[in-house]
Amino acid sequence: MADTSGIRKFADAADYRKRFVIQEEIDKYLPGGRHFIDENRINALIAATDGKPADPVRVREIIAKSESACETLEPEDTAVLMQVTDPALFEEMRAAADRIKHKVYDNRIVMFAPLYMSNLCVNGCRYCGFREGNSLQKRRVLTMDELKEEIDVLAGRIGHKRLIAVYGEHPSTSTEYIAETIETCYARQVKAPRTGAPVGIRRVNVNAAPLPVADLKVLKKVGIGTFQVFQETYNRKLYEQMHPAWSVKGNYDWRTTCFHRCLEAGVDDVGLGVLYGLCDWRFELLATVMHARDLERWFNIGPHTLSFPRLEPASGTRVPEESPWLIDDDTFARILVIARLSVPYTGMIVTARESPASRNRVLDHGMTQLDCSSNIAIKGYSDFANEAHQEKERQQFMLGDNRSIDEMVRYLASRGTITSFCTAGYRCGRTGGCIMDALKTGREGKFCKINAVLTFREWLDDFASDETRAIGDRLIEKELEGIKEWLPKFYPTVMKQYEATCRGERDLFF
Ligand code: SAM
Ligand code: SF4
Repeated sequence: MADTSGIRKFADAADYRKRFVIQEEIDKYLPGGRHFIDENRINALIAATDGKPADPVRVREIIAKSESACETLEPEDTAVLMQVTDPALFEEMRAAADRIKHKVYDNRIVMFAPLYMSNLCVNGCRYCGFREGNSLQKRRVLTMDELKEEIDVLAGRIGHKRLIAVYGEHPSTSTEYIAETIETCYARQVKAPRTGAPVGIRRVNVNAAPLPVADLKVLKKVGIGTFQVFQETYNRKLYEQMHPAWSVKGNYDWRTTCFHRCLEAGVDDVGLGVLYGLCDWRFELLATVMHARDLERWFNIGPHTLSFPRLEPASGTRVPEESPWLIDDDTFARILVIARLSVPYTGMIVTARESPASRNRVLDHGMTQLDCSSNIAIKGYSDFANEAHQEKERQQFMLGDNRSIDEMVRYLASRGTITSFCTAGYRCGRTGGCIMDALKTGREGKFCKINAVLTFREWLDDFASDETRAIGDRLIEKELEGIKEWLPKFYPTVMKQYEATCRGERDLFF
């Protein structure tokens, strides 16, 4: 059990709302009261570029800079990329985004699953089905026994190794509860259906409300992977419209400084995101670049991932249908390409909120991670026995892509993309600043290819249908050939681990 004696406790929701935010932990990162999200600069950039055609020479210079330096662009560069409307020039940008993705992450897509732990919330976000006061929502907090049942389906029947654990914000799901759920996820071991091999969850990322430094240190100790917090919108005025002042989340500065606290606490994989559809997407992208640059300035570490959630229908709200800033699929595709060029080294996550058509389309737009066989109802995996099933009153919003993992893995393999279940980097200490360098130089991409092959082999043998395994086998053969050419001296060592995996040994990695 984690030692949580050093963190603050709260009597009830009112006490939590009153005392949770620690002002000094905000002020430290906004010296002189100046915010690193410079709204005047963003608005000036949008005004200067709005409706004006892009200069192709300048756009190509920026593409070249992004490809060669693999560093976060200046907001001014991102603004130029946002001007591009010419399809041929955009195609040059997309192709470069795809090349950068291959350089940094090779031909892999990392697979994960969302696991919702609770839907009690002290906040009132106007677009969310979990918000306090939404009487349509059926509320519950998973007990540890229920959580084990969820893991049995996720790890034992579907084959997931990597979770994003999601929480409402409430004293009943305090840091103590988050720590206990993480420990429970790691401890649970089950047997794979086809081979009987031991399987379990190897990386637990968390999506939760911003926390103080002391609480983040507790999560670091229990082995949190990435800490994800979506900013929703960087536009302060719209942020205040969506998040009532009486709520904890109504504090814009507490949320925007959250990753500074993470990095201070040693939680060094941080996941940024914007809820697209709440504000002008150009504002959000420019602000994301400023956020990444400020983290780099303070800590020399940028975002481990960027997420691209789009507003989806949710219980008891019309915001997802009526917001004036909703974006179409073409704009979504543009956002991904510009993000990949703007923060070249980062992981990019596109969730099952998207439709299958939208996700298929953006696979070559720089993205690196997706989820499948997802069920976001609280206790949804065990109650619905791995069936695609959605219930508006039990979940935060509705999902668009209900494809099974088997179907998705097969589809990816048919286009030459390997599904990676690898979690080695984090367990070998390749996180934060250390992984930043490996990513920027392309070392991580190659290195991870080997671990991707080993974990893909595990999943194919433990969980895949015959049809999927046949396609996967052919892809693995090709990958092994590639590794032999690339690392002839190391190849026999790789093959030793590979053959041991084929014989049923599990969790071998480099
Ligand atoms: N409650 C914590 C918070 O808000 O920071 C944890 C995350 S919340 C459970 C997960 C994320 O879901 C939110 O940050 C928000 O971006 C997203 N979300 C909320 N309502 C949504 C909707 N209607 N459509 C799509 N995403 C939504
Ligand atoms: Fe609560 Fe998060 Fe939903 Fe806001 S987005 S109501 S904080 S669960």
